[in-house]
Amino acid sequence: MSEGRVLSRKADFPGMVTADGQPWHYLDTAATAQKPRAVIDAVAAALGKDYATVHRGVYSRSAEMTLGYEAARRTVAKFIGAQEDEIVFTRGATEAINLVAYSYPAKGRVLLSQLEHHSNIVPWQLAGWQVDVCPLTEDGRIDLDAAEAMLTSDHEMVALAHVSNVLGSELDVARAAALAHSVGARLLVDGCQAVPRLAVDVAALGCDFYAFSAHKLYGPTGIGALWGRADLLDAMPPWQGGGAMIERVTFEGSTYAPPPQRFEAGTPAIVEAIGFAAACDYVSNIGLALIEAHERALVARTRDALRRMNDITLFGPEESAGIVSFALDGVHPHDLGTILDEENVAIRAGHHCAQPLMDHLGIPATARASFGLYSDESDVEALIRGIERTKAIFG
Ligand code: PMP
Repeated sequence: MSEGRVLSRKADFPGMVTADGQPWHYLDTAATAQKPRAVIDAVAAALGKDYATVHRGVYSRSAEMTLGYEAARRTVAKFIGAQEDEIVFTRGATEAINLVAYSYPAKGRVLLSQLEHHSNIVPWQLAGWQVDVCPLTEDGRIDLDAAEAMLTSDHEMVALAHVSNVLGSELDVARAAALAHSVGARLLVDGCQAVPRLAVDVAALGCDFYAFSAHKLYGPTGIGALWGRADLLDAMPPWQGGGAMIERVTFEGSTYAPPPQRFEAGTPAIVEAIGFAAACDYVSNIGLALIEAHERALVARTRDALRRMNDITLFGPEESAGIVSFALDGVHPHDLGTILDEENVAIRAGHHCAQPLMDHLGIPATARASFGLYSDESDVEALIRGIERTKAIFG
């Protein structure tokens, strides 16, 4: 656990104390991450002394903000090994997946998996795709042997989570990409839970689209990114119309800007983009290798401690990225979450927007502890103490 001690960055995060100044054991980073001072300051400056619109103003502050906004796109691109014109700013991962589901020109069959978040299921259903479901292995990974057997030339798309938001299980993206490509399909990766915990290089992974949200990466809400291969984005029509995405508008018809502007109708989330880039810089400066090792150590420690209590069921593989789902016999996860809250321990209890996964596990809900770069041993200890207290209360 030495990495854990070295890494814990609680001091960078003003949100990590309770209203009365007690330590807050925040174990819900998979839902949304707390924000470091560097992001808060960047957002405050963008909303305050630097604030202006982008892309249209002739005055200098707007020109500077435009440079800042486009620099943010470059920072986000670099963070995942992409070219800047391949990054579309969206409202978040949900909107990024909707964009592809609606705008990808050949809507046909899509292969999803049993563990997907609702935001990687419902958009495909709404946009009229035929959905096939890849099963999971015994320990809760996407079963790529099964995917290989299921994929046919009818599939246009494969859309899978890089890291499960419930089980923490990781996808072998390179193999998934090779399988998709072998039948002429594209691979969209839902990277929401991967970007804060693993070094991601889309070029090396070999996927075609990658979606993620800033708020899970220590950045602001209201912004995320879709990365798409330039040739694929280029072949996709716009999916929302308005200002900023056009080339020329007449009442007879309009023509559209090239990507990424084609997919960014309206005044963009300027301040959020600046905060997003600040978050990428903050995480890059610490280094994802260190963050990954730190979170793996905390996961191992948590799983070991939970395993020693013989009335706990642990879900997901041993080697999981930053996320531990479990159930305590005879106690509903909501009751556990409520008692833990009295101890200043914040976990998530519920279906985690993954009802098909809950159906597969045969339970309505799990308790989930998820870590971030501010987590440390004291959080794990507080969690275990809180579970012991819950057990005592429930007899
Ligand atoms: N996919 C996964 C794996 C997630 O964990 C989440 C957020 N819980 C989403 C997609 C959706 O992200 P957002 O709500 O930020 O669009």
